[in-house]
Amino acid sequence: MYDVLVVGGSYAGIAAALQLARARRTVAVIDAGSRRNRFASAAHGFLSRDGHTPDLIARQSRRQLLAYPSVDWIDGTVSRCTGALDAFEATTTRGEVLKGRRLILATGVADQLPDVPGLSQLWGRKVFHCPYCHGYELDRGAIGVLASSDMAFHHAVVVSEWGPTTLFTNGMFQPDAEQQDVLRERGIAVEPARLTRVADKGAGIAVELENGSSTELAGLFVQARTSPACPIAEQLGCNIEESPMGTHVGTNGTQETSVPGVFAAGDTARAAGNLTFAVSDGAMAGTGAHRSLIFPPA
Ligand SMILES: Cc1cc2nc3c(=O)[nH]c(=O)nc-3n(C[C@H](O)[C@H](O)[C@H](O)COP(=O)(O)OP(=O)(O)OC[C@H]3O[C@@H](n4cnc5c(N)ncnc54)[C@H](O)[C@@H]3O)c2cc1C
Repeated sequence: MYDVLVVGGSYAGIAAALQLARARRTVAVIDAGSRRNRFASAAHGFLSRDGHTPDLIARQSRRQLLAYPSVDWIDGTVSRCTGALDAFEATTTRGEVLKGRRLILATGVADQLPDVPGLSQLWGRKVFHCPYCHGYELDRGAIGVLASSDMAFHHAVVVSEWGPTTLFTNGMFQPDAEQQDVLRERGIAVEPARLTRVADKGAGIAVELENGSSTELAGLFVQARTSPACPIAEQLGCNIEESPMGTHVGTNGTQETSVPGVFAAGDTARAAGNLTFAVSDGAMAGTGAHRSLIFPPA
């Protein structure tokens, strides 16, 4: 029986396990190895690691974690978690069963992109969701924002800080009169023609429209709809919350879910995330789970 099972061994999961390892608690981290930013060649905005590859950050973090003798790492996918406080079980797709007194879910999210041919192939290279992560590298070149919901107005206004912006409404969003005024004031062009395809084009991206025209951009932003990457939290009965971005696992200030002894951290437990937030939430979940072992819920 481990003190804590951590499902998901990326930024949030490793940060959680590190706190527990440093408290000399026994931890098993089970990780399927599909970090959300695996499509990007560099990660930005993370202190001391700005511009490093996501793979390098993950490998170094994992190596440092595994220097602690009370941590076991299992490469694998958890198909199911069952049980309750002091007696959780995680079953992997290979049939291994791991037991733990507390459970931390750090399983990330699944990104659902609009169905535009070519879009998913360029995800993380020329198509992004977060301007803070990838806007600077576009070097003030022409930027597109592809609408996927009513949030497109807000997204386009924010993204326009990084370069001249065109909002492609793509039949998903129609700005009202007030929004049109703001878009005009900020110099944001609005393109109502639907996209038929996006394609890699030299250093940038070509956006092809249903009217036969084509526009070249340095990069395209789109707000993917996100939801927990696996159904474990829902299976356990944790509250799932809705946001304009999608759904995520609800937690309190120590990252504990509505199910006692089950904590959740990182993208899976917030409306919008990044590496820094995931590490912060993970550290909080790790210390939260540790304190819950010391001071068990009544
Ligand atoms: C294209 C792209 C580029 C990005 N660039 C940046 C950037 O430059 N800077 C930045 O700060 N943020 C960036 N982000 C956001 C960043 O990737 C996420 O915020 C971060 O990865 C969240 O970390 P996490 O640990 O919560 O989840 P993840 O990193 O997604 O990790 C979840 C882990 O859990 C595992 N897992 C899931 N289900 C199971 C299961 N059932 N059993 C076992 N393991 C499981 C997964 O395989 C994965 O290893 C980017 C995101 C995208 C999509």
